[in-house]
Amino acid sequence: MLMRADVAVVGAGPAGSWTAYCLARRGARVLLIDGSHPREKPCGGGVTGRALSVVAAALSGFDLPTQVIHTARFVDSAAGRSVSVGLDVPAVEFPPDLVVASRIDFDAALLHAAREAGAELVPARVRDVVATGDGFRVDVGGDARYARYVVGADGANSLVRRRMTTPFARDQLSIATGWYAHGATSDEIVIEFVADPPGYIWSFPRPDHLAIGICAELSAGVEAAQLRERLAAWIRTTRIAPGARLQPYSWPIPSLSDDDFAELSVSGAPGWFLVGDAAGLVDPLTREGIYFALVSAEWAADAIASGQPYMCELYEDRVRDRVAPELARASQLKTRFFTAPFAALMMDAIARSEPIRRVAADLIAGRQGYETLKWRLVRTFEVGVAVRLWRHLLDT
Ligand SMILES: Cc1cc2nc3c(=O)[nH]c(=O)nc-3n(C[C@H](O)[C@H](O)[C@H](O)COP(=O)(O)OP(=O)(O)OC[C@H]3O[C@@H](n4cnc5c(N)ncnc54)[C@H](O)[C@@H]3O)c2cc1C
Repeated sequence: MLMRADVAVVGAGPAGSWTAYCLARRGARVLLIDGSHPREKPCGGGVTGRALSVVAAALSGFDLPTQVIHTARFVDSAAGRSVSVGLDVPAVEFPPDLVVASRIDFDAALLHAAREAGAELVPARVRDVVATGDGFRVDVGGDARYARYVVGADGANSLVRRRMTTPFARDQLSIATGWYAHGATSDEIVIEFVADPPGYIWSFPRPDHLAIGICAELSAGVEAAQLRERLAAWIRTTRIAPGARLQPYSWPIPSLSDDDFAELSVSGAPGWFLVGDAAGLVDPLTREGIYFALVSAEWAADAIASGQPYMCELYEDRVRDRVAPELARASQLKTRFFTAPFAALMMDAIARSEPIRRVAADLIAGRQGYETLKWRLVRTFEVGVAVRLWRHLLDT
């Protein structure tokens, strides 16, 4: 008879492996269940300085191949125009503003850290999760495993989410699709805002290929194939990956509204927790999710390790206080962000002003939040530019 675990973590992406790492280090018996590794997860692979700071110590002995990004270039491909923002690449001590990693490598490093800390990997897919009164039965292939707590770290299509609360509705998801362009690389990311459907195109260089993609809200009614056609034209116009071998990918990303963030339900009796994409914790504007996967994992682990009867509330309150307001703000801004006039204003401001370029670099690195963005722009003393940018975003 297998011993009941303290915690079953479903999914070993960044959220799951980091939850397992944080709990196993405190002595919890942790099952980390995921049969997909090694695997490339469809993703840009952009890991911001703030995300790197969370895991830096755990990954310090691990040789993780990354591409350090020196510049972010914003393009208007129709006008043949582009402007660049220099990013911070400190020599030592502090993480760079942005690195890009293949998810096969990044996720393997976190999984390795979790196993070294003592988590048991169960390399299988979870078929069902059932609350048993004082814990959970987790059906894995033909076997049943039991745990006192369950953590759903199983991404945007989360089974744990579907079993414990409501799945994401169509208008809470966006679609991202694109190609890995093998044989091309660079040390700059390239971004173009797109107005119809609202979203953006990106090229994120990994050590030996580019991850090129486009994203849009599912509710915009466009199919992945249409988005990919649009992206193919962009690749031709920008000549970003001449001669590269293209390998396609598509995947959903949670994209919640400000109302959704005000009513997040990420935990409940008798002890289930949702972290990362399964909880909907992705910036609806930039689609940065890795940082939120890691911090929500830490907070869920803290709550479970506290042993308090109100651990679910502890976790939910922390998510609601620490990240939900910022993400709600991002959601409010996004409809105005992906428009041609805003893109033009922003590119003018970046071209003209070094202080505005620093604000843009801090936004990319995750150092500048949306709630304080207005005053940060005003403090650049580029008052005319700042007011135009801000009024465009919020003058509704
Ligand atoms: C195209 C695209 C580009 C993106 N670019 C970026 C970017 O550049 N930077 C950034 O920060 N974020 C980006 N994101 C978002 C980012 O990929 C996610 O937010 C992040 O991966 C969330 O981590 P997670 O651990 O919550 O989920 P995931 O990384 O999705 O991991 C979930 C894991 O659960 C496993 N799983 C699922 N169901 C089961 C089951 N039933 N049983 C067992 N295991 C299961 C899966 O196999 C997977 O390993 C992008 C997303 C997409 C789609």
